[in-house]
Amino acid sequence: MALLRGTTFSLPRFGSYFNCRSPPFRLSLKASLVDSLTRKEDKSGSDKASKVLLKGMEYPELEKWVQSHGYRPGQALMLWKHLYGDKIWAHSSEDLSALNKDFRKLLSEVAELNALSVKDVLTSSDGTRKILFALEDGLMIETVVIPCDRGRTTVCVSSQVGCAMNCQFCYTGRMGLKKNLTTAEIVEQAVYARRLFSSEVGSITNVVFMGMGEPLQNIDNVIKAAAIMVDERGLHFSPRKVTISTSGLVPQLKRFLRESSCALAVSLNATTDEVRNWIMPINRKYNLVVLLETLREELQFKHKYKVLFEYVMLEGVNDSIEDAKRLIELVKGIPCKINLISFNPHPGSPFRPTSEEKMIEFHNVLAEAGLVVFLRFSRGDDQMAACGQLGMPGEIQAPTIRPPPWFQMFA
Ligand code: SF4
Repeated sequence: MALLRGTTFSLPRFGSYFNCRSPPFRLSLKASLVDSLTRKEDKSGSDKASKVLLKGMEYPELEKWVQSHGYRPGQALMLWKHLYGDKIWAHSSEDLSALNKDFRKLLSEVAELNALSVKDVLTSSDGTRKILFALEDGLMIETVVIPCDRGRTTVCVSSQVGCAMNCQFCYTGRMGLKKNLTTAEIVEQAVYARRLFSSEVGSITNVVFMGMGEPLQNIDNVIKAAAIMVDERGLHFSPRKVTISTSGLVPQLKRFLRESSCALAVSLNATTDEVRNWIMPINRKYNLVVLLETLREELQFKHKYKVLFEYVMLEGVNDSIEDAKRLIELVKGIPCKINLISFNPHPGSPFRPTSEEKMIEFHNVLAEAGLVVFLRFSRGDDQMAACGQLGMPGEIQAPTIRPPPWFQMFA
């Protein structure tokens, strides 16, 4: 799923690429900082492939690895704190100067600190930042940092390059899937967000897996990355503030709810199978009844846990008062909150955003029925950093799905 916004947070997950729109951008960081981050990576990049990626290990694994090289667990803890805590967020061997000298030497020979290279940082007029990262193989991913006036800042991380789910309203979906990200590549997006922006925007408190990709299609790496992010010895995000979003992969969703303590968001976006089959093809495999019944059953076993339903509002598609009434019925018996998200248009999309007045009307119908519901208006869209705008489709794009007969105007 792809991306974020506003006041409480929000980002459903879709992707974008900054150069798809034209407004002039400015670097949000001093150019020298981006340069220095890139240069350090280049220096150590020669034999990266044969080295162990430190950010791919949970703490117990790292401890074991350190011990297997003849060092005490205390060294593992110090290393962990240098990677993730104490405002160090180590990026190069120079950041590890407090560690034992021999241990440092070993690390420089057999371990790699970085999985990503910063290629650019863009700032949108509302303060949203987009970081463009290159992977080892040259593919690019995007991470978005969204400051919020209530003292909370959210980082939206990608879990895949592109996405296979082909949601029709999503720019990332048009790319198709290129590959899964590794645990280290996912974790490092949050580390970079803190390293680059903590002094500018204050503490980064929330993580949402709503950037490029369907996180639950990369579930092993996503569960592991989330566990590293909530480890209290390091990044120490609250599990309630690390949200993994899915388009509705039911078996993986069950596994996630059983294995992870982090929060779950489900991108719903329609109240009938007919519309959802069209705009979210995953619904043909796991339809609304299957998806919602699974949540109803699984959440019985979770104490004080609420799923977040994301609902991107598309004019004339899913935004009628009848939709609002159906939505109330659909989520009955499921402990939940609902985010109504304004659609961020992107090049070539047949969809338009629902007007703010209509979103408020829809919101009020849900709220009057006793549901906890939030409105999320667009953030970061002048830099294509908003929900559904991440990524860069190439020449070969995922197919457009034929709309049902009464939506032919969207064909
Ligand atoms: S295609 Fe769907 S699942 Fe994939 S990133 Fe876009 S909204 Fe998310």
